[in-house]
Formats: sequence, C-alpha cells, structure tokens
Amino acid sequence: MEIKAKNVFVTGSTRGIGLGIAHEFARCGANVVLNGRSEISEEVLNQFSDYDGKIIGISGDISQEADAKRMVKEAISEFGGLDVLVNNAGITNDKLVLKMTEADFEQVLKINLTGTFNMTQAVLKTMTKARQGAIINISSVVGLTGNVGQANYAASKAGLIGFSKSVAREVAARGVRVNVIAPGFIASDMTDAIPDKMKDIILGQIPMKRIGKPKEVAQVAVFLAEQEYLTGQIIAIDGGMTMI
Ligand code: NAD
Repeated sequence: MEIKAKNVFVTGSTRGIGLGIAHEFARCGANVVLNGRSEISEEVLNQFSDYDGKIIGISGDISQEADAKRMVKEAISEFGGLDVLVNNAGITNDKLVLKMTEADFEQVLKINLTGTFNMTQAVLKTMTKARQGAIINISSVVGLTGNVGQANYAASKAGLIGFSKSVAREVAARGVRVNVIAPGFIASDMTDAIPDKMKDIILGQIPMKRIGKPKEVAQVAVFLAEQEYLTGQIIAIDGGMTMI
C-alpha cells in the first residue's frame, strides 16, 4: 500500500509511541486522525502543520463501544474512508497479582483489549468493502514473556496477539491485513515513570543496551501498512530482548 494520501487513524496519539506513529505516517504524506480521551490540544495539532496531508483530532474513549463507532464514523465522513488503523492506546496498572483487584484487572483489559476490539470492529465494514486495509495492533514484549507486577497488562497484550491472528484469518481474503508490533522498552511517559534502579535492571536485559525510540516503532508500523503480503505476524522491536 502506498501511504501517500491514505487515511490513517492512530488511537492514543497525543504523546509517546502513538504520537511518533502519527508523525511517521504524516511524514509519508498520509491524512491522519489524532486521538486521545480528551480534546486534542492546539500544541499537539500544531506539530503537524508542515505536513502535506490533512491532520485532524477526534477525541473519545476506545473502551466505550459508542465512542469507537462515533470516532470511526467522524473520520470516514471527514476523509471519505479509512485505510489504516493503528490500535496504539493502552494503559498499565501494575500490582502483584495477589494485591490486584478484579477492578484493576478489568480496567486494563477493557482499554487495551476491548478497546482494540471496538475500534477494529468499527473500521472493518469500510475496509472489507473497499477490499483494502491494514490494522496494526500495538502489543508488548510483556505479552510474549510475562512480567512481574503486570499480570493484567501481559494478559491484555497476549490477548491482542490471539485476537489479531483470528481477525487476520477472517478478513485476509477481503484484502484486509492485521499485524502486531511488540515493542520492548521505548522512551515515553509510560517508561519515564519507571524508577532509575528498575531502568538499569531492564537495560541489563537488552542486548543492544539502549532504550528504543517512538520513531523506531513508527517505522515498523509504516512498513506493516505498506507490505501487502504480510498478515497475522508479530514483529518484536526490542533491541534483541526477546528474539522470538
Ligand atoms: P503513553 O501512556 O505515553 O500514551 C498512551 C496514549 O493512549 C495517550 O495518548 C493516552 O491519552 C491514550 N489513551 C489511554 N487510554 C485511552 C482510551 N481509553 N481511549 C483513547 N486513548 C487512550 O503510552 P506509550 O508508552 O506511548 O504506549 C503506547 C502503546 O505502546 C501502549 O499500548 C503500550 O502498552 C505500548 N507499549 C509501550 C511500551 C513502552 O516502552 N513505552 C512498550 C511496549 C508496548
């Protein structure tokens, strides 16, 4: 798929990896929907003023089915269609499993997994009708390996892999591809919050001995959107952490 002039929706793109992905698609000439739970600030929108494509903000909560349907409808009426959906929005709420409440568990599943389901379902009719589309789901290496204190997060990110492979099989013959990116440790607000001592331990587990950049994940997202014979795959971009 040639990215120039294609219509791309990136969930959770007000900062971090999602913002990086939105920039990379915009740099390639796409029209991009920026999304977050609250209104997209002028400061974020202004960062995109030099690109050729149309950049709009549509706020809403992906974990609410009605919001997901409304946001996709708005994007389609603004752009005339949607070619790429990047399900990037996600949260953590870390606790040891013995201390984790049902609410802690369900909150993370509801956004990371149900939110991805809501957005995917909302775009599929348009994409299958157009016989073209790419859906890219942002999982995590934690979904492949598990992690202490992240049973809820790991369950949601592992769930995304089974979800993506199932949908990939359902829609492959209709020209829609579904792939997964599993980032390792990437610089963002999410990882800034990790204490320095913990960061040193994590760096010790990365063969390349450095944290990744949002742009590096974004380049994989563009690659997955472009490659027309790739579906149901997982790409771990993690400096060699997992080597799956
Ligand atoms: P971040 O916290 O910096 O940004 C998350 C974005 O998602 C924000 O824009 C936020 O507004 C949005 N968001 C959260 N809940 C939402 C909802 N219900 N509806 C709409 N938007 C919502 O996070 P990040 O580090 O940039 O991570 C982005 C994605 O990458 C997440 O899915 C995360 O799990 C995954 N990931 C991150 C890392 C990392 O090291 N940073 C590693 C692996 C995977």
